Amino acid sequence: MLGKFSFKAYRRTFPLPYQTSGRVWREREGYIVRFDKGDGRFGYGEVAPIPIFGTETLFAARAFLQEFTEDPSIDLPIDLPCCCFGVASSMHSNAAQRRDYPIAGLLPAGHKALELATVKVANGYRTLKWKVGVLNLVDEQAILHDLFNKTPDTVVFRLDPNGSWSEQEFVQWINFLQPFRHRIDFIEQPLPVNKELIMAELVAQSGLDIALDESLNGLEGTRWLCEWKGPLVIKAPLMGDLDSLVERLRPRAKQIVFSSVFETGVGLLNTLQLADALPEMNRAIGFDTSIFLDKLNISIGKPLLAISDRINISPDYIWKQLPDLS
Ligand SMILES: [Mg+2]
Repeated sequence: MLGKFSFKAYRRTFPLPYQTSGRVWREREGYIVRFDKGDGRFGYGEVAPIPIFGTETLFAARAFLQEFTEDPSIDLPIDLPCCCFGVASSMHSNAAQRRDYPIAGLLPAGHKALELATVKVANGYRTLKWKVGVLNLVDEQAILHDLFNKTPDTVVFRLDPNGSWSEQEFVQWINFLQPFRHRIDFIEQPLPVNKELIMAELVAQSGLDIALDESLNGLEGTRWLCEWKGPLVIKAPLMGDLDSLVERLRPRAKQIVFSSVFETGVGLLNTLQLADALPEMNRAIGFDTSIFLDKLNISIGKPLLAISDRINISPDYIWKQLPDLS
């Protein structure tokens, strides 16, 4: 591997702490890799580790990037999936046809979802994702009932408890949702990692679609990427080398739901390159996450990410916003 690489670090603060079940996000850190193509143009890739999702640490990523920028002939190690993704993305030249992508609107946990759902629907969103497993089950079911009533029948929901439900709670939800099956796009990772066989059994009984998310993390997740029949939530920047990722995901393209890891505009463009290479992928993508107030993203703020929107995302500009490494 030859060429000249450099990298910079970013650290972003969530304007308000962002709550998912079992976790409050306050800061997001990562690296942007720049590949000098030698003709005045540059390629960019994002390295955005989340160690609790089975990736390398920031420290390990930085140590590798330091070494790699000094000697780009060293191999990309598969145990550093985010580095593999970012470096490979910086060298990738997109030959696939670009497409527009529908975006699923993101609702906050709890009662706040009600107000925002109406706004999102008025803005044209037809798929809404709601984080659950934050309040108690009875309260969340009451809110969801209101959400169904306040939105047209054609709007569908993704429920995401981030693996926090017990089996008993999951069964209670399945029973509750039976009359509303047409309003549910899927339930995302209802049970914790290692409960995949139980989820598969309940899928068969319930007729609801169940997506895997956390179960796909790390090397263990490879099995479910191949074997799971329902939707697959893919956080591309955590999943290794871009080119081999295209080959791994191609047979599963119709099941794929690309999802944000709170990356910058660089990571978004990297993921869209991957999506472009999988023309059968047809589900709304989970990128309604431009919540940061810095200049490392554009705010999309609408239910369709059009080809023309990508022109507004400038990796050169993002790079210039970042300080040199100290
Ligand atoms: Mg999820």
